[in-house]
Amino acid sequence: MSTQTIELKSYIRDIPDFPKKGIIFKDITPLLADKDAFSRTIKQIAEVGEKYSITKIMAIESRGFIFGSAVAHAMNVGVIPVRKKGKLPHKTFSETYQLEYGQDSLEMHIDALTPGEKVLIVDDVLATGGTAQAVAQLVKKAGGEPMAMAFVIELNFLNGRDKIKECPVVSLIHY
Ligand code: AMP
Repeated sequence: MSTQTIELKSYIRDIPDFPKKGIIFKDITPLLADKDAFSRTIKQIAEVGEKYSITKIMAIESRGFIFGSAVAHAMNVGVIPVRKKGKLPHKTFSETYQLEYGQDSLEMHIDALTPGEKVLIVDDVLATGGTAQAVAQLVKKAGGEPMAMAFVIELNFLNGRDKIKECPVVSLIHY
């Protein structure tokens, strides 16, 4: 493990039994509050975007917005919000995915991408991979190319990356 990885990890706080019993919530707010840790995180994700020559960031509601917007600014590309059902005002593409209990939907505006655009998908945590997989489907529906996905944190033991066949997955911190 690199020194950089160890350092970023020290800014993640474990909150046991949140939002429900048995879940260890990975709280990213200490990392956001530290200018050096936040800036290093954004720089490292932007390097992934540069590697794949991406032209748009897709940021997943809601903590993905924080990282995705900052990376888009750092790379001088646009950012597209992927939102929970019913939040976007214009016509949308929608993708439904399975949760532990029941299902949920994510949406994006139908004209958010120009066909052929190279997309980097950004979120805070890769857990089971259901969310990220749904967003990869949205990118394809909108005519874009999912080039890579970048996460601040990956929960390796949930094997989320096995679900992602479309593109490479890069995470900065692993548990
Ligand atoms: P999944 O679809 O299972 O990969 O879940 C990913 C989404 O759920 C991400 O948007 C995360 O913000 C959130 N999430 C899942 N597990 C955790 C966790 N242990 N701590 C913080 N956020 C989580």
